[in-house]
Formats: sequence, C-alpha cells, structure tokens
Amino acid sequence: MNALAATNRNFRLAARFLGLDTKLEKSLLIPFREIKVECTIPKDDGSLASFVGFRVQHDNARGPMKGGIRFHPEVDPDEVNALAQLMTWKTAVVDIPYGGAKGGIGCFPRELSTSELERLTRVFTQKVHDLIGIHTDVPAPDMGTNAQTMAWILDEYSKFHGHSPAVKEHKKIRTLFIYEFQDLGGSLGREAATGRGVVFATEALLAEHGKSVKDLTFVIQGFGNVGSWAARLLHEKGGKIIAVSDITGAVKNSNGIDIPELLKHKEKTNSLKDFTGGDVMDPEELLVHECDVLIPCALGGVINRENAADVKAKFIIEAANHPTDPEADEILSKKGVIVLPDIYANAGGVTVSYFEWVQNIQGFMWEEEKVNHQLKNYMTRAFHDIKNMCKSHECSLRMGAFTLGVNRVARATLLRGWEA
Ligand code: GLU
Repeated sequence: MNALAATNRNFRLAARFLGLDTKLEKSLLIPFREIKVECTIPKDDGSLASFVGFRVQHDNARGPMKGGIRFHPEVDPDEVNALAQLMTWKTAVVDIPYGGAKGGIGCFPRELSTSELERLTRVFTQKVHDLIGIHTDVPAPDMGTNAQTMAWILDEYSKFHGHSPAVKEHKKIRTLFIYEFQDLGGSLGREAATGRGVVFATEALLAEHGKSVKDLTFVIQGFGNVGSWAARLLHEKGGKIIAVSDITGAVKNSNGIDIPELLKHKEKTNSLKDFTGGDVMDPEELLVHECDVLIPCALGGVINRENAADVKAKFIIEAANHPTDPEADEILSKKGVIVLPDIYANAGGVTVSYFEWVQNIQGFMWEEEKVNHQLKNYMTRAFHDIKNMCKSHECSLRMGAFTLGVNRVARATLLRGWEA
C-alpha cells in the first residue's frame, strides 16, 4: 500500500471512531494547496539537470503550516501528500499551534556536489518563496536536508523579501525559517530534537509497561540524524544497542555496540562499513532480529506484510514517518507487538522547531536545558493524551494518536466555521 493510501486509511478509521460528519471528513482530507515546480540547474560539468520539487500545504486550521523539505530519489506527489497530512495530525498530537505541510525534491543528494545542492535549493526557493512565510508555511530539514539547506533557503528568500532595512522586516526574515544555525537564530537542541523526542516517547511507553531503557536491547534501522541521536541517547541511558543499519550496510553485536565509537567511524568514513566493533549483517535481517525494541528511523513502508510476521521485537518505535504499513499493523497487533506511532514518536523535531519559532519571535534564546526540559513535557503530556483516547475508543496507540490529532483539527475547523 503506498504512503498516501495508508495515511488516508488511518485517517478514515480515526474519523469513524470519532463519528465525524462525512463532509467534514472529506474537507479535512483534501490538501489546502499542492505546488509542483521544475528546478533546472547547471551542473558542475556545465550540463543542465532538471529536478521536480513539491510543496504540499495540507491544513492550516490550527496555525501556520509546518513541515520539512526532503531531498530523496523516492519523493513523489503521493508521498509528499501523505507526509504533509501526517504533519497536520502530528502537530495536533503534540498540541503545538501549527497545521501541516511537506516539501521534497526528487534527487540523489549524495550524488550532487555541495554547489549543485546549493543551486538546486536556491532555484526551488525562487519558485515557492511567495507561498511560504512565518505566518503561512514554515519549512524545516528532513531526509537529505540539514541546517545548511535551511540557511540557503533563508538567504534566497531574503533576496525577495528581506531588502528593507527596517528592523521589523529584518526580524520578520529572521523568524521565517527553522535553520538551526545559532548565528542565524537556530535553537539550541534542535539538531538532536527528533532523536531526543524518540527517547522521551520510548521512556513514556516503557514506563507504562513497568520497563526501563537500561534493561532492554534495541535495534536501530537508519543512522542519519534521527537514528544516530536516538542511539547515542539510549546508549547514554544504559540501553544495549545490538544492531544498527544505514544505506551503506548493517552491523550487529550481541554484547552491545559501542555507539560513541560507531559515531566516530561514521563521521570519518560516512559509512557503517568496516566498523570493527561488530559483525556485518544483512540489513533486511535487521528488521526481524531478536530484540526488545525495534526503532525504524529511515524510509516508509519498511515493515510490511512480507516481514511483519517475523518481527521479534516486543515494541516498535516509529522514528521514521509511516514505516509500518496497515497490513503489517494488523499482523503485529495479532502478535501482541506494541507500535508507538510516527505522528507521536517522531514529533520531537517539529516540537523544537516550534520552540525555535517562539524564541525567534521573542528575540530571546533559551538555554539548551530549557529546550530539552520543555520537549520532555510536551512528549510526556502527549503520551498521556493518546492513552486517554485509547481508553475512550478502546483502540491501538496508532488510533489513539490519530483520533487525538484529527479531533483537535476537526474542532478547530468547526470553530472557524469552515465545514462544507
Ligand atoms: N522533518 C521533521 C518532521 O517530519 C520536522 C518538521 C518541522 O520541524 O517542521 O517532523
């Protein structure tokens, strides 16, 4: 099932649980705006290359639309639509005053030079600059993009909107994007935020089951920003990470991988290959490896009807967006595997994006301790809100999160009098 079909299915189930009016259900599903742009750039060798970029603005009933920009070969309209919709429910689940959006460019970022990436980012920004902004749609990093990408977007955007010397205007520009660099207004703790949020979410779930990180084994699929931060923080809390993978391969060690050493190796070689602190393993096998907690931190759809029956983990924490498809959900639920859904588990990134936006608007920077403390508060509160929905509707954690998010957006929509 593709990402959009899976997301729509979860939304519809939640709408049914909530007893939403069919007109309201339809209007919540249809995106506010879908933008498709052709981005042509000169390559370093002088030839021209063209890439298709998207920005889908799904819903703004609860506030400005919010979501990352992904550079990845699998970016397509359905996937960006699904991810934009997930952002709408995600921001509502953690109760931050945003709607949802997502962007992406279909490309292999690893095969582009830094200057080609910069040109591509600037051309994309030129094409969407008049449709984004602090009170309309606020971009952020996602797979294949980072703080540098955001700094280029900011710079290109300011060519169109930032020439006024007025302080107010200048401040407006500063608050437009989530760019992470502290020199440009980035928040302390933003880089680690998604991974840290994953750990807070995991702790909330485990506490509910009378367990703690330090007694358990973890398998982590994906060792980019989210996976590597989650691994580092779980390791610091005494969790045993017994297998890790990324696009370059997978490594296992039943005694626990020395995560600081693996981070150094990755930093040096940009790969997991040739790491001497563990044995090479098949990345496919990693998802069904014996462990207590499996944390998919990469692409969508990796747990599906082909492998769900073989999953041995007792808990799955969805640090990636839609890593489990609905067919797998059913199989896992019959096996008694507890799945902590993406729209909650990976919401730490957008939550700290929100703190960054607040800090920029106030022109005041928080200490990192405060950022992390507030993140923990938001993640823990959202977990209890989800559990209450699970109790009221006698449903899974995924449906608890969807009903929570959809209900908040539906209420805002009705209050505004937007129903069809
Ligand atoms: N890309 C992250 C996500 O999917 C963060 C989005 C944001 O900060 O707007 O949640």
